[in-house]
Amino acid sequence: MISMRPDMGRMQCFVASLLARHGALAEPIDPEGLEVLAPPPVQQVLQVSELSRLGFGATLPHGAERVGIENDWLERCGRLIGERGRYARLVLPVDAPAPSDAQRALERALAVDNASIRLADVSPSWTRYAVLDFRYSAVSDEKRDGILRLGVNLATGALADTMAARLAAEHLADTEDAAPPAEAGLPADWEPNRLLELVERALYPRLEMALAPFVTGLRRRLGRDQERLYSYHADLHREAMRRGALLDEGNPARQREEKRLEAIEREYAAKLHDLSRQYAMRVSVAWVQTLEIITQVQRFAVRIRRRKAERVIHLDWNPLVRRLESPPCEFSYGPDRPRLVCDDALHLVTPDGMAACAGCGRAFCRACHRERCPKCRHSVVATPMAAQCAA
Ligand SMILES: [Zn+2]
Ligand SMILES: [Zn+2]
Repeated sequence: MISMRPDMGRMQCFVASLLARHGALAEPIDPEGLEVLAPPPVQQVLQVSELSRLGFGATLPHGAERVGIENDWLERCGRLIGERGRYARLVLPVDAPAPSDAQRALERALAVDNASIRLADVSPSWTRYAVLDFRYSAVSDEKRDGILRLGVNLATGALADTMAARLAAEHLADTEDAAPPAEAGLPADWEPNRLLELVERALYPRLEMALAPFVTGLRRRLGRDQERLYSYHADLHREAMRRGALLDEGNPARQREEKRLEAIEREYAAKLHDLSRQYAMRVSVAWVQTLEIITQVQRFAVRIRRRKAERVIHLDWNPLVRRLESPPCEFSYGPDRPRLVCDDALHLVTPDGMAACAGCGRAFCRACHRERCPKCRHSVVATPMAAQCAA
C-alpha cells in the first residue's frame, strides 16, 4: 500500500516504492517524510522498528530518522533490493524499413583495406541484445567511479555500443512490454564462456577510454611530484658535492660529505618508490545488471572475398539508432576501425590484431592464434591495459 504525492523528492519516492514492494505501509508526512509500518523482515534489514518515521529533507518530521545518500541508507536499501532488478527484459517491436541506401550504410559501417566486400542481401529480422552494465572504480591518490555499458547483439556478435548507450535509458521508461511473434527466430543464449570471453576482451579497451582523462590527470600530478622531488634532492646533492670538493682527500669532514651524498641518493630512491605507490592505480570492475532487448532489425548479408576465399557475415541495421552495426574485431572486440581480413579464416580484425609479432617480426592473425605466434611461440598480449594487469 503506497500513496505518492507530486511534491515528494526522488529519494523519498524511491524508499516509499521499495517499502511498498516489500509489504510495508508507507504514508507521506510533512515535512518530506514517511511514516512506516514495516513487517519483521523489513524491520530487520532496514534496522527500523515496527512503526517508524523517516525524514528526507533539511528539516525532519518529529521523531524521524534521517535517510540520505551520505549515511548508510543506500546500503540498507541495497540489502532490501537484494538480487531483484539484476535482470530485465524489454521487447521493442519497431516498424523497421530497410535504409534507403543500404550500400552506403555498409560502406560507413565496414571499411576493409585488404579484401572486397559485397552486399548480398537485406531482410527484416528480429534479434536479441544483451546490455550489460558494469560498475568500475579506479583508486589511486584520487578515486573515480562510473558505469560502463556493453551491448552485444546475440545474433551477429556485434558490439552495439551506440545502441546500448542511447536506447536503454530513453526507451525503458515508457515502453509497454510486448511479446515477440513466435516466428521471430530469436538467437539462443550464448554459452557462458563465449559471453565471458567477449566481456573480458571488450571491457579493457572501453575501460581504458573511460579512464583516459583520469589517468592523464594522475600522470600529470605524478610528473609534477617527481620533478619537485628531483629538484629538491639535486640541490642537496650539488651542495654536498661542492662542500666535499673544497676538502682534502683523507679529511674526515670530506668523508662525512661522501656519506651524506649516499644518504641523499638513498632517500631520493625511497621517496620515488613511495610516489609510485601513492600513484599506483587499482581498478575493480563488477557486473551490476543485464537488460535483454528484443527488437526488429534489418539484417545485411555481406560477402567478404580475399584471394580465392570467401565468407558471408551478417550485420544488423538497427532502426532505433538508424545505424548499421560494425562487425566486432574478432580478436580484441575493440571499438576502433578499420578492419583487415586474415588469409586463413577471413577473420575481421583491427590492424593491432594483425600486427607483427614482438618476437620474430612476422605479422599474424590474433583471432586465428589467440595465445601464441604460430612461428616463434611468443605469447600474445591483448591490450596495453591487459599487459599492465598481467604484469
Ligand atoms: Zn613470432
Ligand atoms: Zn584469422
